[in-house]
Amino acid sequence: MGATSGATTEPGVSRAGLASGAGTAPPRLVAAGAELAYERRTVAESVDVEVRDGSFTVIVGPNGCGKSTLLRAFARLLKPRSGSILLDGRELGSIPAKEAARTVGLLPQSSTAPDGITVSELVARGRYPHQGLFRQWSARDREAVDAALREADLTELADAPVDELSGGQQQRVWVAMALAQQTPVLLLDEPTTFLDIAHQYDLLDLFARLHRQGTTIVAVLHDLNQAARYATDLVVMRDGDVVATGAPADVLTEELVADVFELPCLVVPDPVTGSPMVVPRRR
Ligand code: ADP
Repeated sequence: MGATSGATTEPGVSRAGLASGAGTAPPRLVAAGAELAYERRTVAESVDVEVRDGSFTVIVGPNGCGKSTLLRAFARLLKPRSGSILLDGRELGSIPAKEAARTVGLLPQSSTAPDGITVSELVARGRYPHQGLFRQWSARDREAVDAALREADLTELADAPVDELSGGQQQRVWVAMALAQQTPVLLLDEPTTFLDIAHQYDLLDLFARLHRQGTTIVAVLHDLNQAARYATDLVVMRDGDVVATGAPADVLTEELVADVFELPCLVVPDPVTGSPMVVPRRR
């Protein structure tokens, strides 16, 4: 998050790391003075944040601070009331929905599958942005769906009705649908919800693999230690504001966790990866 502009800094919250991990590539997604609001509730008055091309950006913050709302704005589902949301320098709202959906894919926090739909039928819906008036279902679409099913470990469940699967399996179907979209930018809203711990890491490793292959990832995660392990760039939010951005090692301090999450803790090196690991103190 090298060039994040105007992130608000509050007392006790570090701006450390703004310069770390900075690349020269232009950002893919930018919120510039974006006011994000629902009909009767303003969530963020002025958000400034940049998602570096090729980054694995993880958004963290207490419940209700506006993480999903920011992700929805980046997914073109919520228009800023004022300010800008830019995709590759263009105002996102001015880009036709289908065109935007070929660049930015979203795994929403919760979705309901149509009754009776099978796994492969639902995953195939991820190909919709690639279909046009004249270009219907193709071998490339089939390959994208097969690959997504493989990556999400669902090949054997391809013909199963989605509503007969467990919560964790259903979550992997939605992941596969997002993968089938084959977008260079992938937004993930709490992708590990409903998954047991091994499947959580399977999925995070899958996203890390996509990231190594060039996909820009923006994920909302609750687990700070997972965030610190996988993020190249951490965005910390509180009450609709971005209060810190940068590399996890620079941002995730005992002071920040105490301040933003009201959790007294130690931050020690993760014995496996060396990334910062939050260990709560007794309260
Ligand atoms: P987070 O993802 O950080 O938990 P959200 O972005 O989901 O937070 O929500 C931010 C605030 O906006 C919360 O107070 C929530 O209740 C409110 N909110 C979320 N969705 C809506 C909506 N569709 N209409 C009105 N308020 C909403």
